[in-house]
Amino acid sequence: MNATQPSAGKIMLVGLGPGSHEHLTARARAAIAEADTVIGYVTYVRLVADLLDGKEVIRKSMTEELDRAIEALDRAREGKKVALISSGDAGVYGMAGPTFEVLFQAGWTPDSAIEVEIVPGASALNTCAALVGAPLTHDFCAISLSDLLTPWPTIARRLDAVAYADFVVALYNPKSGRRTRQIAEAQRLFLRHRDPQTPVAIIKSAYRPKQRIELTTLEKMSEADIGMLTTVLIGNSNTFVQNGLMVTPRGYANKYAVEDGARNTRDGEQAGRSLSSGLDGWIEDIRQSGRPAAQLAAEYRLPADYIASVLNEPA
Ligand code: SAH
Repeated sequence: MNATQPSAGKIMLVGLGPGSHEHLTARARAAIAEADTVIGYVTYVRLVADLLDGKEVIRKSMTEELDRAIEALDRAREGKKVALISSGDAGVYGMAGPTFEVLFQAGWTPDSAIEVEIVPGASALNTCAALVGAPLTHDFCAISLSDLLTPWPTIARRLDAVAYADFVVALYNPKSGRRTRQIAEAQRLFLRHRDPQTPVAIIKSAYRPKQRIELTTLEKMSEADIGMLTTVLIGNSNTFVQNGLMVTPRGYANKYAVEDGARNTRDGEQAGRSLSSGLDGWIEDIRQSGRPAAQLAAEYRLPADYIASVLNEPA
């Protein structure tokens, strides 16, 4: 590129984290500083208002996602550096997806003159978890209860699957003015698989002035004060609450007994080795049991054809 050519524009997808400046990353701050134009939902623009002096600011409503992306591309084509700001991480229920869709439709590729940078931010599940203890220390997933773009049967099927599979779950977009029943349906699906006493954390406006945290149970969660800015964390079958903290243990069949600060292995386990119920140990077990796949399938709650194919492999 030479001096007579205008420099090509850039689109930065900037995750702001939960909204407090302490949790805005250094790169996010620098990206906003670098930008000529900042585009975002009104609330997000307000969160970083003091960083916007001298910049063009385009405020959009929640439903104008594609417009925001199109506007960003237009500005970038004019040679501007554009920061598209999202709360949390821009790739988690945020602007990153719609932006790439718009870019691809316009024929953009990573080799095009317009550069695209994604600046990661702490998502609501990270920040909300940090406020209540250690709820996500074992396998977890996120489900959005918003049925504006996703059919309810799809959402319900996912809720049912992860409740059955004993994931810790972070529910995004749990409730809004018009969508009030989804959270009750989620509860109903979870109660089919999980204990009514399963710990649930309701975190509202994490790291913002109106922050509110409530620890409750699966049975009572739909009575809680839940809104647009709330994330709901539902524990798995091992999650517990102690001293006001929600904790999901790292191990299922706890490998170590911790005594006097020393780590001793439980019966039959060796320190640093995988569990006898790990993959190799389990395969050996089911082989030696001599039991039919259908019976093992019921015991382990796994598909019979999967067990059959494992058993049929040469040892
Ligand atoms: N990109 C965002 C998610 C956007 S979807 C992220 O990565 O966090 C909007 C949903 O995010 C809200 O309905 C709520 O469930 C959650 N959320 C965002 N900010 C939050 C905050 N400060 N406290 C609690 N939940 C929040």
